[in-house]
Amino acid sequence: MSIDRIAVVGGGTMGSGIAHVAAQNGRFVRLLDVSQDVLDSALATIAKNLDRQIKKGVLGEGAKEPILGRIETGTDLGAGVTDVHLVVEAVPEKLDLKRTIFTKLDACAPAETILASNTSSISITEIAAITKRPDKVIGMHFMNPVPVMQLVEIIRGLATTDETTAAVVQLSTELGKTAVEVNDSPGFVSNRVLMPMINEAVTVLMEGVAEPEAIDTVMKLGMNHPMGPLALADLIGLDTCLNILEVLHRELGDDRYRPSPLLRKYVAAGWLGRKSGRGFHSYG
Ligand code: NAD
Repeated sequence: MSIDRIAVVGGGTMGSGIAHVAAQNGRFVRLLDVSQDVLDSALATIAKNLDRQIKKGVLGEGAKEPILGRIETGTDLGAGVTDVHLVVEAVPEKLDLKRTIFTKLDACAPAETILASNTSSISITEIAAITKRPDKVIGMHFMNPVPVMQLVEIIRGLATTDETTAAVVQLSTELGKTAVEVNDSPGFVSNRVLMPMINEAVTVLMEGVAEPEAIDTVMKLGMNHPMGPLALADLIGLDTCLNILEVLHRELGDDRYRPSPLLRKYVAAGWLGRKSGRGFHSYG
C-alpha cells in the first residue's frame, strides 16, 4: 500500500517535526490540533527549520514553499482524517487522551487507514484494543528533533499484522529514517533504557552531588554522549519525561522507575525545559 496522504494529530514538538519530514519527502500532510494558534506556530517552526536546512545546504534554494504547500492545517479531527492512508497521533502522553483520540480516529478514518501512535511508552496493544482495527494499529516512535534524528522505533501491538508493519517500515525508509522493530512493552527499548538514566541524573542533582552543568559534562565528556541527560530532558520536555516514568512505574511495578520528586516539582512549577524557556538549564 502506498502511503501518500498522512494526517498528523497534535502540532506540538513531535507533530510539527513529523509533518515537516513527511512533507519534505513528498507526502500531503494534514496537521490537526485543538487550536489554530498552535497550528500557526507549528507552521512557523517548520518554516524556520526549513530555512536552517537550506542554509546548511541540506535542501536546495526554493525547496521551502513547495514543502509548506503540502501541509494543510485543521482543527476538526473527524473531518481531517476521512481521506488519508495513515494517521500519526502525537498528542500528550496521557492514556485517557489517546483513548479518546483513537476512538474518534477509528470512527472517522477509512477502514483501510493505518492508525499509528508516536507514544513514548503507552501500550500499543491497549490503544489498539479500543479500535475495531487492532491489526492496523502500530507504534511509530519518531525521535526528537524529527528532521535530524535517524531512528523510528516501530512497535508492534499484539494484533498488528505483518502487512501493517511492512507498510510503516517502508514509509519510514522513504522518509529517510532507519526503522527498528520492537515488541510492545512499557517504554519499548528507547525509553526503558533512557528514562532511568535521566531520572537518576535528576536525583543526583536533588541530592546536591553536582550542579546541572557538571552532571551533563560528566556524561558528555566521560561517556561520549552528544548531550548530557539533563539537557536531553529539557529537550524532550520535563512533563513528557514525568509522564513516561509514571507509565514505566505503574506498568512494570518496580520502584526503580519512581519519578524523582525534583522532576515532579519542576513540572508543577511549569519549568518544562526548552519549550517553557526554563528546565534544568535556562533558555533565553
Ligand atoms: P507537545 O505537548 O509538544 O504537543 C502535543 C500537542 O497535542 C499540542 O500541540 C496540543 O495542543 C495537542 N493536543 C492536545 N490535545 C489534543 C487533541 N484532543 N486533539 C488534537 N491535538 C491535541 O507534546 P510532544 O512532545 O510533541 O509529544 C507528543 C507525543 O510524542 C507524546 O506521546 C510523547 O510521549 C511522544 N514523544 C515525545 C518526544 C519528545 O522528545 N518530546 C519524543 C518521542 C515521542
